[in-house]
Formats: sequence, structure tokens, C-alpha cells
Amino acid sequence: MEPVVSTMQEHQLTITDLFRHGATIYADSVVTTWEGDSSRSATYAEVAARATRLAGALTALGIEQGDRVGTFMWNNQEHLEAYLAVPSMGAVMHTLNLRLFAEQLEYVINHAGDKIIIVNASVLPLLAKVAANLTTVEQYIVVGSEAGTADTSGLGDKPIHSYEELLAAAPDAFDWPELDELTPAAMCYTSGTTGNPKGVVYSHRSNYLHSLAEAGANTFALSQYDSILSVVPMFHANAWGLPYGGWLAGCDFVMPDKHLQAEPLATMISTLRPTVAGAVPSIWNDLLSYVDTHPTDLSSLRVVPCGGSAVPLSLMKAFEERHGVHIVQAWGMTETSPLAAVSHPPKGAEDDPWIWRAKTGRVSAGVRLRIVGDDGTELPWDGEAVGEIQVKGPWITGSYHLDPDPEKFQDGWLRTGDVASVLPNGFVQITDRSKDVIKSGGEWISSVDLENSLMAHPAVYEAAVVAVPDERWDERPLACVVLRPEASADASELRDFLADKVARWQLPERWVFIPEVPKTSVGKFDKKVLRRQYGEGQLTVETL
Ligand code: ADP
Repeated sequence: MEPVVSTMQEHQLTITDLFRHGATIYADSVVTTWEGDSSRSATYAEVAARATRLAGALTALGIEQGDRVGTFMWNNQEHLEAYLAVPSMGAVMHTLNLRLFAEQLEYVINHAGDKIIIVNASVLPLLAKVAANLTTVEQYIVVGSEAGTADTSGLGDKPIHSYEELLAAAPDAFDWPELDELTPAAMCYTSGTTGNPKGVVYSHRSNYLHSLAEAGANTFALSQYDSILSVVPMFHANAWGLPYGGWLAGCDFVMPDKHLQAEPLATMISTLRPTVAGAVPSIWNDLLSYVDTHPTDLSSLRVVPCGGSAVPLSLMKAFEERHGVHIVQAWGMTETSPLAAVSHPPKGAEDDPWIWRAKTGRVSAGVRLRIVGDDGTELPWDGEAVGEIQVKGPWITGSYHLDPDPEKFQDGWLRTGDVASVLPNGFVQITDRSKDVIKSGGEWISSVDLENSLMAHPAVYEAAVVAVPDERWDERPLACVVLRPEASADASELRDFLADKVARWQLPERWVFIPEVPKTSVGKFDKKVLRRQYGEGQLTVETL
């Protein structure tokens, strides 16, 4: 008998196709960019026409397939144009983190080999700090209404172009190449929360499949009826896939540009009425304080994906109960494009959805996940065993750009460095990052658990818990607490508050009250800094 073979076409999954689909099918969907007091808008058809011109302009400047084009930009229409044009022409877009320290910024630009950088005029001074040390950059393109008058002297003597002038001079058609789906499309470096940034290179295929996944009803159900407020920066973890996922689904976009504080975000939500809004917990925490005292209509929001670090249950409940906003916790990382798990309660859990919503997430289709013990063996999904999460799948990185790091992979699985248990139905509960784990007397204490419990206290605005050395127990937790303005609570009150929430031996004896938890370049608690400050004796610690 003849063997059967699939009769399906071998069609390549490309961003070029994704781009074309949105541009034609949803030509009248709208991209709006906030400008402070007002906003500007363009239809998908207009954005696509400008992206087409951008591809022509970049070609005229010498960009060829495989060349890296850096973007040093806020979330705005022009950034989306680059997201569409650069990969579709076969080049590789490298989104640069606006908040990196100068040394790290210089490192990632040189390491990626960026040839051109597209930069918002308002962040030129940040780029100027490293410009003299950039070894591969040949030209700059400046974006923004201030582009003509901006002081570009800090960039040195390389050619500097105006984005709008380039577009005006470019042809209105572009001969898009037929690309293999494994062609590199975009690069993103990890934000370096626990070490040096590492480069992840997404392919056309990985982005295409990830976009379909984000439109799935078990994730975020993105559709033409949605309007996405993408607060998460377009340089953070592939912008959580929202630009491509949203474009493929025909969503309207609301781009906050540089207006990321609680007040403008509240205004954007109440006036432009997005249905989806993604950001890390610290952004929502700030917004919550603001809307609690400045009543704001948030009713347009259908779902608010939140992740990047553990999302406090108290934050989700406060938004749901006081403002009718539905936050959904998700887990992922730069290396996973980033969607990997989303915490929608399982069916039948209507009576008590919170125990599920408080969990890290339920494994998404397309992602294979296992937990592995210290000895390298796979552990059961029984909700008890705790091990390192390892993942594999079509949008999960299998290596790092020019940075072989065999330690980060095991038999083709990505080692995430996150420590978790998993229930038989695929709900993951992260207890810590392996680098943040507190090992006390041979037992692990979950900093995530302690933080979550502390942040449920009404006087606590933020709380971070880190491991500090202890003579008797090796390590013990140090609780670093930020109180709400005008609220008061002392260490013993907070310790009593924790007493019925965590095991007694886990209760921190060391406490410090600080004005603010230091944050990383993407707004996460920077525990490295807290541990260093403690080590250097910079914190005034109270011991109970
Ligand atoms: P960085 O590694 O520099 O922080 P990423 O944004 O890629 O940059 O971080 C991914 C990490 O963020 C994950 O490995 C995990 O530790 C943490 N994280 C993301 N989502 C969650 C979540 N819902 N709960 C707990 N931790 C999370």
C-alpha cells in the first residue's frame, strides 16, 4: 500500500502575510496615538501605506535582508509601522529598551549589530549617551514632530534623517519578498532582571503562530471588536505579542506614547475606551491609587492581561470589586514570545474563581511545560511537587543570539529559572524565581507568597521580600515595605497580619520601611538592588 502524505500546501507563515491581512481586511481599523491633551489617529490602510514607504526608505538607505534595524521608541503609530515594515522586507527589527542603563544599551546595540536606529526625538539625549561607542550603527532616523528642530549633535557625525521626510520621498509601492517562515523577524533582549541581557530572535513563524494564539478564546480572544491599550512597552518581551496579534485580528490600537503615568492612562481609558489593556502589576497598582481618589470610567475594559511578575490577588480584587475591571494574570518571558500560561478559571469554578485567578496561569495550547527537580528528573503535576519550569514550543526560544548558554537548556527544553508546582489540570503556581528563592534551614520560603499576603494589608502600597544571609538558618526573609501615603502600620502589626496566612517559621523577623521599591527597566521589583542595599548596610532594619 502507498503511504499517505498530507495534501496540504506548504505555506510559509510570515509577518508579510499578517501585515497584508490586517491592511486589507481591516483597512478601516484605527491606530490612535496619545499626545498629552489630544490624540492623532490613522486607519490601518494609512498605517500600511506608511509602512510600505518605510520599507522603501530603508531599502534606499541600504538596509538589506537580515540587517538589523533598531527602534528606540515609545509605543506609537510609527513604532507599529516599523513592526510591520522591517520584518516584512526581510530585515530584523530590534526593539531597544528605553530604560536600560547606558552600558547595557550600548552592549545590546553592538551585540545585535544594529545598522540603523529609528529614534523618537524625545529620547535622543538617552541615545546620545552611548552614540560614540556604537560600532555597527551607520545612520539614524529621527521620529516625532520635534524631529526637525531636535538637537541631534549628541549622535555624532553619522547621517541623520527625518522619518517624515524619508517617507515623503519614498515610493508608495514595495516589492515584498517571499520569505521563508523561519527567517528572523525581530529581536528582543531580556531586560536583565537577574543578569546581563540576552538576545532572543523571533521568527516570522513564531510571531504568526503566537498571534493566532492570542486571538484564542482561552487566552485573550483578540478580535476586530477590540481596542488595545498597549501600555506594555513595545520593547518589553515582544510587546506581549499585542502589536502582531492585534493587527492580525483587526483590533483598534490606543498607543500611550510617553504618557505612562496613572493620570494620562486614566484619561486615555475614559475617553478612548479601549477594551483590552496590558501592563505589569506596578502600573496597575499606580492606576488603582489614582482611580480610587479620582473617579474614572473604566467600564470599556473587557480584559486586562497582567504579568511580568506575580500579580497580587489584592490588586485584582480591588479592581474587580471597586472598578469592575477584570484583570487576568498571565505568565511568560521574553524567551516565550511571551505567552505561555493564562489564568482563566476552569469551568465549574464559578463559585470561587479567585483561587484560580490568583494562580500564575494555565498552560496555553502550543506550549509544552514540565517541572524538573534539582536532580534533573521530571516531577509530577500534583500541585505538591515543586521544581523548575521548563518549556518548549513553536514560539519558545531554543538558544540565545551569539551567546551559547547550555545551562539554560536541557534536552531541547528552555529552563525558565522559575520555580513552581503544577496541578493536574495545568494550572501553574510560581513560588519564586530560582535566584530569588529564600532557603531557610533547608526549606524554601516563597517570596511571592509573602509579598502577596503583605500587599493585602490595607496600609501596604508595595512589598518586596528578599533573602538575606542568616547565621543560624543560612537565609531568612527581609520584608521591604512601602506604606500608602497617610497610612500607618508597624512591623509587629504586619507580622501579626501575616501570622494566619503563612507558616509561623516563614514569618520575617527583619523589616524595613522604604519610600519606594526599586524597579527594573520594565517596572518589576529589583531585588538585586534591595539585596545589595542590605549587604552594604544602607537599609534601616528593624528586627522583631
Ligand atoms: P526579565 O527576565 O529581565 O525580568 P522578562 O520580562 O522576560 O524579563 O521576565 C520573565 C520573568 O518574569 C519570568 O521568568 C518570571 O520570573 C516573571 N513572571 C512573568 N509573569 C509572571 C507571573 N504571572 N507570576 C510570577 N512571575 C512572573
